[in-house]
Amino acid sequence: MIKKPDTAKLDRIVADARRNAEQRDLGYREQALKMYPWICGRCQREFTRVNLRELTVHHRNHDHDFNPSDGSNWELLCVYCHDNEHSRYLDHTGGASKPNDAAVATGNPFADLKGLMTRKP
Ligand SMILES: [Zn+2]
Ligand SMILES: [Zn+2]
Repeated sequence: MIKKPDTAKLDRIVADARRNAEQRDLGYREQALKMYPWICGRCQREFTRVNLRELTVHHRNHDHDFNPSDGSNWELLCVYCHDNEHSRYLDHTGGASKPNDAAVATGNPFADLKGLMTRKP
């Protein structure tokens, strides 16, 4: 009698692998939010569902593809502290950070002031 290969077992292994990949893609943010209290790790600001989108997941080793399921590479930071964290990191590596771009883009708030002042009644 010829023993058939255990396809059921194989199928299960494939299914497991697929499910693991799906869970990885499900989003480390959700996992991190389940795992940690909703508090910024730097400024200790507390978050609720209302402002939760301002709480972000920082990767301690700055590698977004490194997401161990125990959460050891994740740290919850508010957007401001997260920004700081990354500009510090960029400073270390000599990369460019442009914190003033937004300010420049808003233009000159006094651009129209001269016109307003010289306008005669
Ligand atoms: Zn913060
Ligand atoms: Zn980060």
